[in-house]
Amino acid sequence: MGLAYNVYLTSNKIFGCKKCKTHLADYNDIISRNFRGQHGKAYLFNTVVNVTHSEPVDRNMTTGRHIVRDIFCRQCTELVGWKYDKAHETSEKYKEGKFILEEELLCVIGAPLVMKDPRSGTEDASKRTMETILSRQWES
Ligand SMILES: [Zn+2]
Repeated sequence: MGLAYNVYLTSNKIFGCKKCKTHLADYNDIISRNFRGQHGKAYLFNTVVNVTHSEPVDRNMTTGRHIVRDIFCRQCTELVGWKYDKAHETSEKYKEGKFILEEELLCVIGAPLVMKDPRSGTEDASKRTMETILSRQWES
């Protein structure tokens, strides 16, 4: 414990461990949002970082039998989701080697540059503001 995480993501939107804010996955790496975990909504990712795996277990899920490993935050050892080692159903094979993170166990970490315009609450406006800031930085 007490060691800093060794992978630091630099995307504009990052999913981190809800408990300790350790970076876990890049928002742009989401393959699917149509997953359900024990705590509700869950996301399928290509890759996650800073996690440890449990031993593989055979688990019956709504989409059939899978061999999965639970994955835990490396920093605080909280359970954050699972990894698909093997799917028995052919239609579920695409999930092999992919990761599930449960939304309820995550926090969203934005880039430090992201500023919210208090006058407009829309996402488009804040995105434009950010792009303006970024392009100004590159110009100077
Ligand atoms: Zn954590």
